[in-house]
Amino acid sequence: MKQCIFCRISAHEAPAQIIWEDDDIMVFHDISPQAPQHILIIPKQHLENLDDMQPNQQPLLGKMLFIAKEQAKKLGLKDKGYRLVINTGREGGQAVYHLHMHLLGGRPLRWPPG
Ligand code: 5GP
Ligand code: ZN
Repeated sequence: MKQCIFCRISAHEAPAQIIWEDDDIMVFHDISPQAPQHILIIPKQHLENLDDMQPNQQPLLGKMLFIAKEQAKKLGLKDKGYRLVINTGREGGQAVYHLHMHLLGGRPLRWPPG
């Protein structure tokens, strides 16, 4: 899936402001931040979205959540609060079809979302 922008970022073939990575997961700044803090947590393996996840990949999502809360702490959001979002499919507002979790914070976030 080398035409996939997030596959290219995770392979270091396209630029991004990378915050953290290991063999499975990469964290980088969103190119168009919607809050003072807006980062993306992605699996390096190409999955289209949450709907593409298989039963044996459940630990991967758990790891993404754990990394998200660790990164939130590093960004100083632990006490203020923050939001994790996984847009899925057309009506879910998904634009990039490589699974990713948004971490947004640094301002009060409204509910319900638009
Ligand atoms: P989605 O709507 O699919 O949940 O969100 C995709 C997100 O990826 C958007 O917030 C968008 O700004 C971000 N994005 C799209 N292309 C790039 C890119 O090339 N680099 C980075 N860092 N973020 C991107
Ligand atoms: Zn991909």
